[in-house]
Amino acid sequence: MKIAIVGAGTAGVTLLKEMVKYDEFNDVSVDIYDNKVNMGQGVPFQNDSDQLLINLPARQMSINLDKPEEFFEWYEEQKEFKYMNPEYLPRFIFGHYMKSYLNKYNDEYNNVSLISEEVQEIFIESNIGDTALKYNICTSDDIDSCRTYDCVFLTIGTLSYHDPYNLKGTKGYIQSPYPTYNTLDEVDDTDSIAVIGTGLASLDVIRYVTEHHPNLPITVTSRKGALPRVRGNMPDLEFKYLTPENFNELKRQHFGTVPLEEAMKLFDLECEYYNIQVNKMLDVNMENHIEQLEFDLNHPDELGSFQSLLEGIKENMNWIWNSFSRTDQIEFLNRYQRILKANSNPMPPRTAELIIHGIKNNLVKIKPNLKNVTYDSNKFNFQYDDGKDTHEQYDVGKDTHEQYDVVINATGSKTHLADLDADDQLVINLENRQLIQAHPLGGIQIVPETNQVISPRFGTLNDVYALGQLTNGINQSRNGVMMIVKQAVGVVSQLFKS
Ligand SMILES: Cc1cc2nc3c(=O)[nH]c(=O)nc-3n(C[C@H](O)[C@H](O)[C@H](O)COP(=O)(O)OP(=O)(O)OC[C@H]3O[C@@H](n4cnc5c(N)ncnc54)[C@H](O)[C@@H]3O)c2cc1C
Repeated sequence: MKIAIVGAGTAGVTLLKEMVKYDEFNDVSVDIYDNKVNMGQGVPFQNDSDQLLINLPARQMSINLDKPEEFFEWYEEQKEFKYMNPEYLPRFIFGHYMKSYLNKYNDEYNNVSLISEEVQEIFIESNIGDTALKYNICTSDDIDSCRTYDCVFLTIGTLSYHDPYNLKGTKGYIQSPYPTYNTLDEVDDTDSIAVIGTGLASLDVIRYVTEHHPNLPITVTSRKGALPRVRGNMPDLEFKYLTPENFNELKRQHFGTVPLEEAMKLFDLECEYYNIQVNKMLDVNMENHIEQLEFDLNHPDELGSFQSLLEGIKENMNWIWNSFSRTDQIEFLNRYQRILKANSNPMPPRTAELIIHGIKNNLVKIKPNLKNVTYDSNKFNFQYDDGKDTHEQYDVGKDTHEQYDVVINATGSKTHLADLDADDQLVINLENRQLIQAHPLGGIQIVPETNQVISPRFGTLNDVYALGQLTNGINQSRNGVMMIVKQAVGVVSQLFKS
């Protein structure tokens, strides 16, 4: 059997790592595609500034489920990178750890080949009237260069970045903040800088820019202006009420789906059991950033328990999310997704301290109510809808304006196929050739239990699997390393079983 893995980041490397464990691995050949730079490291863990930290303690992140401390042990054994405070290590080091696996397998096994090129096309070869399918993978538009496979893994990571104000291509507009150490290449010391987006990517920019562009404050802005929460001390929690058994019982009573309201009752029972005061954790003034960050830093145990609970929900999100009706999924996104996102992708405490220092020393200004950004006469014009703010000092409906020389886009990656442009040409081609179809809530349609892709033309493609952000409609909020690793383990066991 010929297998192709398209994308050699966390998911791609972990799939290979799992495959080599099986005897059946001797009977397959595996080609792994990625560009030279990201091969084995992926995008989040590419070589970049050491200011960019992994968002959880190094001892808790590993691509070996049986050995949660493996990454940290690898770090301690190697001699190339050493840090004073290794609790939260730079992200690129995790990339080197993953790459060490890929290189090892590439050296060790003749049936593994690394192809350092990006895939442009994947198409299905099937004769009319025949249901047997083969998959062709092409790295150029020369059809004779395509290679044929029996099984394909789509592990291409995140889609391209949003461009909410249509500024892509404008001079001074930096469409993606990564790698951050190239971000300031074209920026003068006297340029004023604004960052759009206040999520995790913007924290990376703050870390890097405040260090390398210290003369002027940077403004970080978005519609809400809310920062992620700070990681607390997260204990291991085991769910007592939010269990598959209780969900199955509820599904029997409610026409095959679990009403969101019933799921929230189980969530409340879980909070009660672990003595988690949800209201206290959420009743923090998110508009006063120093107050919020200091609250978080001062309540590491209470906040940590709450975050552990949310992390547990994310880990089990495949069956939780896919038990809801479509109406309840939309309701969930509207009511709870923001809370889940802010608390379940928390920043390391060290980053919070840096931001507090930045705000107090006028190096960083965080502003809500961004309404629009336009470009005119070499300046970016930021319009804020301050009337929307609940601050009483603003007149209702009054807009304010600011101008900047440089804008860094940190709004995050797209989630819906409908928003894609030429930067995601492979996915556009896959949709056009009817291998994949959009999921209404984002990404593509897959079978939640197996990660098999559902084609609108061929039905379930038994031998095409997708993992990672491309499956975000089904794998809602399940894109952390550990969740991807768990999916890879399950998918490989399914592959060799079948
Ligand atoms: C900035 C950032 C920071 C993060 N930090 C953390 C963290 O600290 N901890 C954590 O648990 N999670 C973190 N995450 C979540 C992260 O997305 C996952 O943990 C994980 O790295 C995703 O793995 P992946 O394999 O899906 O994507 P990636 O690791 O990005 O791998 C996808 C690969 O596919 C390649 N590719 C794309 N298109 C093609 C093509 N056409 N042909 C061939 N190859 C292609 C890319 O070059 C890339 O190497 C972070 C995410 C981001 C965006």
